[in-house]
Order: sequence, then C-alpha cells, then structure tokens
Amino acid sequence: MASGWPRIILHADMDAFFAAVEQLDRPELRGKALLIGGTGPRGVVSTASYEARPYGVGSAMPMAAARRRCPHAIVLPPRFERYRAVSHVVMRTLGAFSPLVEPLSVDEAFVDMTGCEALSGEPRAMGESIRGAVFEATGLTVSVGVSTTKYVAKVASDRGKPDGLTVVPPDEVTRFLHPLPIDRLWGVGPRTRERLEARGIATIGEVAATPLDALERWLGTLGAHVHALAQGRDARAVVPEREAKSIGSENTLDTDIVGEAAIRPWLHRAADTVAGRMRDEGLAARGVRVKLRTSDFRLHTRQTMLAAATRATRPIVETAEALLREFDLGVPVRLVGVAAFELREGRAGEAEQLDLFDAPREEHDEQLDRTLDAVRKRFGERALTRARNLDRGPPPGT
Ligand SMILES: [Mg+2]
Repeated sequence: MASGWPRIILHADMDAFFAAVEQLDRPELRGKALLIGGTGPRGVVSTASYEARPYGVGSAMPMAAARRRCPHAIVLPPRFERYRAVSHVVMRTLGAFSPLVEPLSVDEAFVDMTGCEALSGEPRAMGESIRGAVFEATGLTVSVGVSTTKYVAKVASDRGKPDGLTVVPPDEVTRFLHPLPIDRLWGVGPRTRERLEARGIATIGEVAATPLDALERWLGTLGAHVHALAQGRDARAVVPEREAKSIGSENTLDTDIVGEAAIRPWLHRAADTVAGRMRDEGLAARGVRVKLRTSDFRLHTRQTMLAAATRATRPIVETAEALLREFDLGVPVRLVGVAAFELREGRAGEAEQLDLFDAPREEHDEQLDRTLDAVRKRFGERALTRARNLDRGPPPGT
C-alpha cells in the first residue's frame, strides 16, 4: 500500500450534533448557548452547543443543574426525527467513500478506508475529503480521526473537536496515546481508574509499561484488553450495518443504572433470550450487537463478528460482555439490548460443526442450553437463571 499503513480506519463524529442541527434550521439560534434535552423534572441534557460548554455543561447532565450553570441558555426539546433524517444523509455520504461504514450512534461512524488510496488519496486527504463532503451535504461540521485501528481513530477524532482532523500514522500511535489519562482507554470506568491510580498508574503510557500478568492480576480479563489498547493494538474490523434479519431482545429499565456491574445482568438476560430464540428457530449467528440507550435518550450500538456461527448462550454472552467495554459506561443507561445478526440455518446438534476448534465445549453448552430452554418453557422465563446472572462467578459444574 502506498502509505505503508496496514489498515486505514477513519472515525467521523458530528460536532454537537443535535444543537448544530437546530442552529442550522433556525439561523437566529446561531452563536447562542443551547441546551437540547428533556425539560421535565427528570430531564437530562442530550447536547449542549459549543457556546454553552464553557459554562461546564454537557451531555447526560440533569437539565436543572445545566440551567443553573448556564442560565442564559435556550432550552429546546429534541427533534429526533429530524436528527435521524440528517443522520441518513451523513451515513450515505460516508458510504460514497467506502462500503464499510459502521454507525455507532446517530452522529458517529467508523469507515474502513483500507485500499481506497487510488480513489481518495493518502489518509490525510481522505479525512479532508470526507469532512468537505459531509459539510457540503448537510451544512454541518464533523470531526474526523484517522489511524490504523478503531480505537486510535476514535480517540483522535475527539482530539480535534470541533471541526477538526487528527491523523495518527502507525509510527506515531504510541507517542499519541501514551500521555493520555487512563480513562481514555475503552473499558476503564471510575472503579478501574481508582484501582490503577492506587498503583501509581495514571497515563496510558504507564499501562503500556506495566507487565501483562500484573494487569491481569489486578483487573482480571480486562487486564489483557487494556494492555493491548495501551500499545495501540486493536484488531477489530469495521462491521457494516446491513438491514439483514436479526434476532434481538431488549429491556427498558424502571430506573437508570450506571456501570458495568449493574448492566451485566441485563446483558446476560438479553443474550440468553436471543440465543434461546435462535435455538427455537434453528438458526445460528455470526454477528453480535449490543445496544444501550442512555438517559439522554441516545441509542448507542457496538457490534462484532464471531470467528464462527453459534447459537450457544455462552459465546454470545462473552462477546456481549467484551462489547460492553467499548461503551462510555459513566453515563446512566435506561435500555439494554442484545441482537444476533448474520443469521444462517443450522439443524440442532450441528453446533459443533459450526465451530470445530471449540467443539467439546460447544457440545456441552448446547446440552446445557437446551435443558434450560426446556425448563423455562414449562415453568416460565424467570424459573431458572444461570448462576452467572446473579454474581460474577462461573456457572456451577463448569
Ligand atoms: Mg458527536
């Protein structure tokens, strides 16, 4: 490849999207402090315009608190339909540059531009063309990060906000990442941050310099994940969204919940339901998607492809848990969902052929799954729940 980059991954993130759409549609709002969000007693800010942000207001903050900090701000309810329409234009514009576009929410997406150099030029030129095309199509600005991995591209787009372009070539990845604070690592929430800070680790560079076995001792499986990210290693592919059939399950919660530990049982329940439905319908899936709606009513999704198709609960739960670490989990959540996509037909008992490498475990899983399915069908959905839905330990007998 001409640029010498192994992959070219671009992350595009619209600037203050909801507020920017309002200012676009109503010129009298331009240059003004705006708060878009719920106006009721439990209202939360979805987006603050850049004019409001110097007052210390931002997404997911209670509206009452934001109004106290920025009393002159104009408060508007969100018009999601309008934002979705603009979002379609943005995604279509990105799709003209590469077929591999993975939306993460209404206002951001990954684009895999690997192999597009003949058409779009070197990575910086790609970023500039995409920014120009989005502005031309919508009248709105977008910040773009370009690097060799999803993770670094996303951190880079945030660096240049608003209306910025940040390119991080492969040989500059560690220099770019290492001075950043540890909470810029996906999966590091307030509790993990405290745990690392207690050991004198405050920057991504310090995580990278910590031996893997020490991180695994302190953080469990999250240790290997943050160690790889801190070195700029992230092999995940950009998975384009297709309108293909999927099987999903989601729960809207009575009260908002915050943090991985609170979300995980809901994730397990949804994954369990999805896998059970696939077994009922004789289907197996290669794609797993996690969906969270935050208290500011935004829907966020993360998805990935499995090495082989499955309908067993365990790999779907494990994949969903890994995806959970890619969200910003500091924000209250009101809906948790899991979906399986890239579905294919497969007779019951065929699971082992779908994943030869893991055959004995898959076979065991399928037996356990079918037993649980049968019990639930007779005695109801809540009759039996895996031990791991109740605590962090492994299920008994495994
Ligand atoms: Mg945005």
